[in-house]
Amino acid sequence: MLLKSVEYVRPDSVAQAIEILNSNEGAALLAGGQSLVNILKHRVASVDVLVDIATLEELRFVESRPDGSIEIGACITYDELDHSELIHSSHEMIAWVASHIEDQQIRNRGTIGGNCCLSDPTNNFPPLLVAMDATMNIQSSSGMRQVRAEEFFKGYLMTAIQPGEILKSITVPPVPADVGIGYVSLSVGEDSKAIVRSSAWVKLNGVVQEARVVLARVSPIPVRYQPMEEALRGSSATPEDIARAASVIGSDFEPVADSHGSSEYRREMARVVAKRAVLEAVEKVRGEGGSK
Ligand SMILES: Cc1cc2nc3c(=O)[nH]c(=O)nc-3n(C[C@H](O)[C@H](O)[C@H](O)COP(=O)(O)OP(=O)(O)OC[C@H]3O[C@@H](n4cnc5c(N)ncnc54)[C@H](O)[C@@H]3O)c2cc1C
Repeated sequence: MLLKSVEYVRPDSVAQAIEILNSNEGAALLAGGQSLVNILKHRVASVDVLVDIATLEELRFVESRPDGSIEIGACITYDELDHSELIHSSHEMIAWVASHIEDQQIRNRGTIGGNCCLSDPTNNFPPLLVAMDATMNIQSSSGMRQVRAEEFFKGYLMTAIQPGEILKSITVPPVPADVGIGYVSLSVGEDSKAIVRSSAWVKLNGVVQEARVVLARVSPIPVRYQPMEEALRGSSATPEDIARAASVIGSDFEPVADSHGSSEYRREMARVVAKRAVLEAVEKVRGEGGSK
């Protein structure tokens, strides 16, 4: 289906983009357009004005901060993440995830901000950013506000972004030597939509000091599975410890079912991917991990 005729504007600044959003209820931000244009073509939603922010310099930067965290502008594409030396040297997993999103065309246009603001449960970045405890920096006409990634995703295609607001950037904390990050998906095909996915952040110093285990595709938004995190804390993180910790998954939640998997299947696979994600994170700290 062809796109309906729609007004298109390219503002000069984030402030101007916000002004347009505030003066026109039917205006919507356009970043990479990889999801929004399809949504409009399929008439699932309609907009009066597309406000193209993809080339705004204010949204296109990757910078390190003195504490070792990095700030990524919302309109940085997956391909740019994959080719950023800074990201590779300090936050390798972000580059790895970016490089595994669908195909080169999508990676050339799709942005990390659009990936998060869409809040599609199959999208790759939301679970990783929750596991890494990222902060979403949101701009409106009244200034900036910060929302933790864990609080940002509100539901299927719903986020903390309010009318008149723009996600300006994402701040990701440093990854010290005693922290490992794992990311494992069970997909329909290689580099394709996940049936179930897990990302784990583990701080290990002989024993597990702290862990964040995030499950995706078992609910409309990425969820931290705290019973598993608690079961890991203080353990020596042997493969047996990790398998035991993962076995607590599922007694208290009902994953969504769809054509790719029943609730029961997803619950079983959630245990498997969470176990593998934690194992991968632990192996990285111990220097046994691969290139991811
Ligand atoms: C065939 C195909 C396969 C795909 N496979 C995958 C996959 O395997 N994994 C994956 O993660 N993704 C996948 N995608 C989705 C792709 O990653 C999109 O790029 C992403 O979902 C949206 O990013 P975008 O920059 O294109 O945003 P757009 O499509 O331009 O926008 C998406 C939504 O976010 C809003 N928005 C965008 N930027 C901002 C901002 N800075 N502030 C506030 N709101 C904003 C827009 O208004 C819109 O509502 C696929 C897409 C296609 C077409």
